[in-house]
Amino acid sequence: PTPPRLYGPLRRNSVGVDLSQAGERDVLEQNVAKLETGPALEAGPIVSGKPKTAGGQPVSPPFDLSCTLGTVLEASEADVDAALDAAVRFQPEWDKCGGAARARILAAMGDALENNMDRLCALMAQEGGKTFGDGVAEVREAVDFCRYYAVQAEEKFEGQTRLPGPAGETNHISLHGRGVFACISPWNFPLAIFTGQIAAALGAGNTVIAKPAEQTPLVAYEAVRLFQAAGLPGEALHLLPGRGETVGAKLTADPRVSGVCFTGGTDTARLINRTLADRPGPIIPFIAETGGLNAMFVDTTALREQVIDDVLVSAFGSAGQRCSALRILFLPNDTADLLIDGLKGAMDELKLGHPGHADTDVGPVIDAEAHEMLTSYVARMKGEATLLKQMDAPDGGHFFGPAIIELSSLDQIEKETFGPVLHIIRYDPDDIDKVGAALQAKGYGLTLGVHSRLESFARKVRAVVHAGNTYINRSMTGAVVGVQPFGGEGLSGTGPKAGGPHYLLRFAAERVLTNNI
Ligand code: NAP
Repeated sequence: PTPPRLYGPLRRNSVGVDLSQAGERDVLEQNVAKLETGPALEAGPIVSGKPKTAGGQPVSPPFDLSCTLGTVLEASEADVDAALDAAVRFQPEWDKCGGAARARILAAMGDALENNMDRLCALMAQEGGKTFGDGVAEVREAVDFCRYYAVQAEEKFEGQTRLPGPAGETNHISLHGRGVFACISPWNFPLAIFTGQIAAALGAGNTVIAKPAEQTPLVAYEAVRLFQAAGLPGEALHLLPGRGETVGAKLTADPRVSGVCFTGGTDTARLINRTLADRPGPIIPFIAETGGLNAMFVDTTALREQVIDDVLVSAFGSAGQRCSALRILFLPNDTADLLIDGLKGAMDELKLGHPGHADTDVGPVIDAEAHEMLTSYVARMKGEATLLKQMDAPDGGHFFGPAIIELSSLDQIEKETFGPVLHIIRYDPDDIDKVGAALQAKGYGLTLGVHSRLESFARKVRAVVHAGNTYINRSMTGAVVGVQPFGGEGLSGTGPKAGGPHYLLRFAAERVLTNNI
């Protein structure tokens, strides 16, 4: 019998690594050790399949500033131009090869990622400060994106669809790539978001120029090498590491770019939107997935232990550096003290430390700038609110102790603080309409959590607070491809949802042919 295609109708999400098994943990730790003691890593621009790395600047892991992980060469202006020229030239050929052929390459990329799970986890621990649990989940997400978009490429981008029409006339609609897509990604999912954006744009028939975050070029470089090993022609995907203000700004201002897929901060999205509005050339799609002011509403019927477990994961997992992370916890006046005591106690069980050690729960924040921002934020809030608890952080890297701050009013918070800082507000669940409306008025709409055993309460919350992804009685992070398509509304993003059935369509041009021959 023919084996089931992993990317066909029998597509299954990828399987992970059982971190409760000592053998599995040992393999991951050995891979981290290999990176620490092995030859220095290198990254740089890859234009038309040709890597350029000589003369790069040294970079250190976020948990140990005294050692060098490798070197990174930033793309020059000439690299940006060469990549754009090649991507424009190759795009018609790439589009013409059809959705089924492109699907096979995306599926091969899924396999390549899965086969390199251990090394990629080690690299993300080293460069991005990711714990193994987060790393494994991220590789799986990247694999799933590739396979899921492969299915869509094959189903929607192969051939054309017949439409009705009068006798003697035929009408067909078909989907095509738009041209060159600029894919601009953040550091907090250096593999999954980087790969997911690219896989979608490629699957839809675009060529791609990828600008990874300046903090995580080594992971991006590795991913592009895997795309090449999976059979992707060099001209279809170009990598331009470098800063947003230089490489990113030049790319988005160039009229040769026919679409931008961006994930990052809301302010950066506005900046890019302005650039796109002001540049000459065509009006193009801008897909932006940005930050959130994500809240969880708890009522008095909620199960205490479950709330505490889910809050810890949602607020402090990945050191709070997830766009979906819980930022504001609304606790009912009647049970708030009990829940806060439980939370404080549970925080004592968290282990902060080296992300390459299997028993670490919370790794470092990404860089000195993030550490400084969080430190000064908590110092300022000590004067304006009540710091209920902050954990001690180890020395030697960008470690920041998770903190909980009690606010007296929602007016005290306006935007996302990207890190392990949880705000708590006491409220009366009978006032959910008013409290929910005040939150909704802030304009974000990414994730929302509800903890209650009353369906009626969950319905009331959802009627006033609109979020792209709502989770009832569970943690608020870790959306799964094809199961919980992910993305926000309002200040949190434009949609469409990554890992959802409509994602690839936004990357496409639709053409209709009416034929009376
Ligand atoms: P960021 O500072 O906005 O950067 C995102 C990307 O944009 C980076 O590659 C950055 O380059 C680039 N960039 C910066 N300025 C640019 C410009 N003028 N033109 C073109 N590109 C430019 O965000 P981040 O700090 O990397 O990531 C954290 C943010 O992402 C948080 O707000 C988080 O909520 C959000 N996020 C959202 C989602 C989602 O799905 N909704 C997922 C993950 C993260 P540099 O690295 O050089 O600055």
